[in-house]
Amino acid sequence: MQSSLSLDVKQNQDMEEKDDEPPSSYFPFIENSYPPSVSSFINLPNALISSIIPKKTKSKTLPATFVFRKKFFPAISTKQWNDWHWQISNRVCSLEQLKRFIKIFPEEESIFKQLDSKLPVGITPYYMSLLSPDNPEHPLRRTVVPTIHELFKSPEEKDDPLGEEHQSPVPGLVHRYPDRVLFLILDFCSTYCRYCTRSRVVGHGSILPARSRLERAIEYIKNNPAIRDVLISGGDPLTLSDNRLEWLLIRLRQIPHVEIIRIGTKVPAVLPQRITPNLVKMLRKYHPLLMSLHFTHPEECTPEAYRACNMLANAGIPLGSQTVLLKGINDDVLTMKNLMHHLLKMRVRPYYLYQCDLITGSSHFRTSIDKGLEIIQGLRGHTSGYAVPHYVIDAPGGGGKIPLMPDYLMRREGNNLLLKNYEDRIFRYTDTINCC
Ligand code: SF4
Repeated sequence: MQSSLSLDVKQNQDMEEKDDEPPSSYFPFIENSYPPSVSSFINLPNALISSIIPKKTKSKTLPATFVFRKKFFPAISTKQWNDWHWQISNRVCSLEQLKRFIKIFPEEESIFKQLDSKLPVGITPYYMSLLSPDNPEHPLRRTVVPTIHELFKSPEEKDDPLGEEHQSPVPGLVHRYPDRVLFLILDFCSTYCRYCTRSRVVGHGSILPARSRLERAIEYIKNNPAIRDVLISGGDPLTLSDNRLEWLLIRLRQIPHVEIIRIGTKVPAVLPQRITPNLVKMLRKYHPLLMSLHFTHPEECTPEAYRACNMLANAGIPLGSQTVLLKGINDDVLTMKNLMHHLLKMRVRPYYLYQCDLITGSSHFRTSIDKGLEIIQGLRGHTSGYAVPHYVIDAPGGGGKIPLMPDYLMRREGNNLLLKNYEDRIFRYTDTINCC
């Protein structure tokens, strides 16, 4: 733990360049979209919370976040709190720090003695404010606070379940599909998800944004004209400074055959303060640029997250979401529908719902495939088609994403298809027969 943490700190210091300040988080229309349960986490009646929160703050942040800041960081100004550098510098990374904010239970505490070679802990104060202080089963809390279950390895699990190491022609570059690459530019995240597919490398200081390594990867892309799509990921690319990110975008844009650039990030959910006017002004110069945002639960859809997504969307960046299906966290139709509806209101198109990969120590997060299909069935036809993501399994060993669908096509009878609709009603469709 100690070694991972010091690497984190070193990377952080390296990355900290005071390049801009976030705006005041003006958010005019979100008040009614607060997840209603969040305010109950802070052990205060809503009426009391309302009475102590200045009126103008209500549209900018959740009551829980406001009270958390006042309670634990009374000397910190709103400007500091909204500074993403401050959020990163004050991340919660140890058992002692966690204990300051939440009650820790034995199955959470016992893993800390054995975390040395595992995914480190890292939680921004902002995200910390969204966690329940006294319920270990709280969905967001389970995604970021480790438990002893991470030490159990079932036979089907692997450290590198997607076989990325075998598809890396250059360190940190995964070339699985002919026309696109996954470019891992660093292994640092502001907040670490306990179910991370890349927990074997993320947070360990093994993938650094060193210019020499990035140059090798850029050279590989340059020498492979079939690559038209580069997905920049990590770690979280948006934890780099604007300048370093722009350097990379310029280099990629200089390659004529790179048509689109995508950035994968969880920042709008865990560190929305990072989405600053300067960042979006810089990003919009490198279109076509798309973003895959990682959201897990409706309680992540706070006023701050809405504001961040709005700013990105206003910069013309198409936003898609990636959600991992997680047992006891988002594995029911109501929660998933609620999340998808929030995403659409945030102007994020629900894109992928991932079956949780077979990562070492993740069985406590994994649902059955039937559960995933049941959720898709509960969405399709029951809400806007735009709110229904593609449910996929990333094939173990590196086979790519395989879509999974409930059985709407029941059978074929000659040139007739028997189809089942969302209400389980059966319809017959006469297929076109190509006779010559
Ligand atoms: S933000 Fe992404 S890369 Fe970082 S820990 Fe979470 S899943 Fe892994």
